[in-house]
Amino acid sequence: MEEESATAPPPPRDPAALQLTLFKLHKKVPSTTLTSWGTPVVNKDATLTVGPHGPVLIQDNNFIDEIAHFDRERVPERVVHAKGAGAFGYFEVTHDITPFTAAKVFSKIGKRTSIFVRFSQVSGEMGYPDTVRDPRGFAVRFYTEDGMWDLVGNNTPIFFIRDPILFPSFIHTQKRNPVTHLKDYDAFWDFMSLRPESTHQYMYLFGDRGIPASYRTMNGYGSNTFKLINSQGEAVYCKFHYKSNLGVKNLDPDSAQQIAGADPDYLIRDLYNAIAEGKFPSWTFYIQVMTFDQVNKVPFNPFDVTKVWPHGDFPLIPVGTLVLNQNPSDYFAEVEQASFDVSNFVPGIDTSPDKMLQGRLFSYGDTGRYRVGTNRDQIPINSAFRADVPKNYQRDGKFTINTQGGAPNYHPNSFCGPEVDPRAQKLQPKFLVSGDVYRYDSGDEDNYSQPRIFYQKVLDEAARERLINNIADHCSRSAKFIQDRVVSVLSHVDLSFGTRLRAALDARDITSTSLKKDIKYL
Ligand code: NDP
Repeated sequence: MEEESATAPPPPRDPAALQLTLFKLHKKVPSTTLTSWGTPVVNKDATLTVGPHGPVLIQDNNFIDEIAHFDRERVPERVVHAKGAGAFGYFEVTHDITPFTAAKVFSKIGKRTSIFVRFSQVSGEMGYPDTVRDPRGFAVRFYTEDGMWDLVGNNTPIFFIRDPILFPSFIHTQKRNPVTHLKDYDAFWDFMSLRPESTHQYMYLFGDRGIPASYRTMNGYGSNTFKLINSQGEAVYCKFHYKSNLGVKNLDPDSAQQIAGADPDYLIRDLYNAIAEGKFPSWTFYIQVMTFDQVNKVPFNPFDVTKVWPHGDFPLIPVGTLVLNQNPSDYFAEVEQASFDVSNFVPGIDTSPDKMLQGRLFSYGDTGRYRVGTNRDQIPINSAFRADVPKNYQRDGKFTINTQGGAPNYHPNSFCGPEVDPRAQKLQPKFLVSGDVYRYDSGDEDNYSQPRIFYQKVLDEAARERLINNIADHCSRSAKFIQDRVVSVLSHVDLSFGTRLRAALDARDITSTSLKKDIKYL
């Protein structure tokens, strides 16, 4: 991230580039290569053939073992958040929040809990460049004694939509057109302008924070509203924030575009090297708390993920520190097979009526079962290893690894099978829900008041100018009637926002390519 002068010597090879060299230094003598059934391989460089020119014999079980495994090297790519980087570390409690929650992870100051974090880009595929404008995932898994808690957040405190039924359509507009297999500017801006609840989030996206300079220098947010329950069974609602201790740093769009070509894996490399060099990134972890009483008094819906809880009314309460200090030892085994599940709560932390959260409660586990399998929780990265699993009534399924020592597989039973934990029961108190069952379209629910504060009070004039130009660069490639609608929507945020965007759009040439510079042919 430091600037390089034109005369500087080439940089020394970084830890990521030296990975194989370091392996060799450590290993010293090679092991014997084995088949998957554990026997020594006779020859690793030649198939078993009839004469030097073939054909190959089907009895070459070394070849078949090798190629059949190769054919199955990939699991389905995540539909969203496909490309990512991961690291291990710990969470340390620095402040007491036991009045709010009995979750063991927060039980005393100084307590450390192992974590795994996966950062990701949302819309690109596995090979997509890291430095494109996109929200970033920031998912934290806490391996607590009470099981795994997955706080599957993003680098923004809000989201584009507030009703999960819109999620597949929203994502389709961020992905490739099914005919052209290209990103489609019409689809993108058509959806955004037809669903103005997306305004707040896309203003973040096209603001400076839309292209983080490093995963280490972006904030994370649980985004949705959650519930905390204390040892008396009393509950409050809460938001989670984790702010980078390196400060927020972003890339200028031109630099980002250059890096996208020169080093498409820039963010993965940056994280790997920083941790390998002992520059461990850390974040300060905060909560915001809202009582059930306050829920009915605030002038906005606290379960609407397109909105923040204003800091002035709901101050950030410091809780602890997240530190990443260990790179994965195998990318596929740990990062690719990590199967985060928003519904993985631990006693003392629970869900809320937030509709988007409710949709996510189903979708993550469902994806994990499809992508990694029914028994994904039995592989090390997804195993609640501190909770002394397995102790339950689940059995069998593809790739069962766990055995349960002869315990009964039905409940209730008279044979000493596992029983429920009264403490966990107390930490899931009753709550009242009422209302008329109906499909409530929330499209017109106060879409502009917080974007207005963001535009008028949070951004300075230079940041507003960059925001307008970034939107214009992208939106100018959509159809004219869609551009007009975007201008109209943003005029509701601030009249001058719309006027200035109109002028910026008019000043741009609409071209069919995203390349700004002239192409030279040889
Ligand atoms: P404050 O006025 O107390 O603080 C402004 C917040 O905006 C800070 O958290 C700051 O993050 C963040 N911020 C600054 N620049 C950008 C940017 N380009 N993109 C995204 N976030 C940015 O916030 P309030 O709570 O009073 O809310 C005012 C507005 O601030 C909201 O309408 C919302 O748009 C935005 N905001 C609010 C957050 C919240 O949870 N309350 C969180 C983030 C943004 P930092 O402190 O890390 O620099």
